[in-house]
Amino acid sequence: MADLEKLRQNLTARGYACQVFDTPQEAVCHLQHSLQGRTIGFGGSMTVREMGLFEALSRDNTCYWHWEKADTDQAARAQVYISSLNGVAETGELVNIDGAGNRVASGLYGHEKVIFILGTNKIAPDLDGAIWRARNIAAPKNAQRLHKKTPCAAKADRCYDCKSPERICSAMVLYWQRPTYIPEMEIIVVKQELGY
Ligand code: SF4
Repeated sequence: MADLEKLRQNLTARGYACQVFDTPQEAVCHLQHSLQGRTIGFGGSMTVREMGLFEALSRDNTCYWHWEKADTDQAARAQVYISSLNGVAETGELVNIDGAGNRVASGLYGHEKVIFILGTNKIAPDLDGAIWRARNIAAPKNAQRLHKKTPCAAKADRCYDCKSPERICSAMVLYWQRPTYIPEMEIIVVKQELGY
């Protein structure tokens, strides 16, 4: 069981606001309350989809998501960017792997605020564990979901560090702290499993 108070303290020390919620519904209510009249871009995220967050925030904001017919450039120009993470260390480091690059780029630069939402299944005790889960759990499950012709997609059992043309792991971003050109970053933790 992850130590959420330790995680919250370490994230705060690294420059992030951190909120912990018992349910996805509470997290959605928090975001509906805090985000109104904004342009919001979304990165590809099963967590976001499972929470119905795009639909909920579209009522009072202008939302762009390439999974919902927008293009990635619209999301890249939004005031706020929302996505999930592939691995989070209790020590406070964040890890994301991306194939196309839009998600990791927007998580680093170009927005007034970046929000990452995660379930407790994304949390590992330390940085090595967070990188391991991003590479060996999140990426293979996403390759399987996307029906990629990669060695990991059949069983989603581990990363084979493939050289496949359909490899979905192009870049891995590790955050040691909030990048200084992003004025606000918020990490929202939901006390249940969400996404991969
Ligand atoms: S590098 Fe290849 S085998 Fe490893 S997770 Fe990514 S797509 Fe799968």
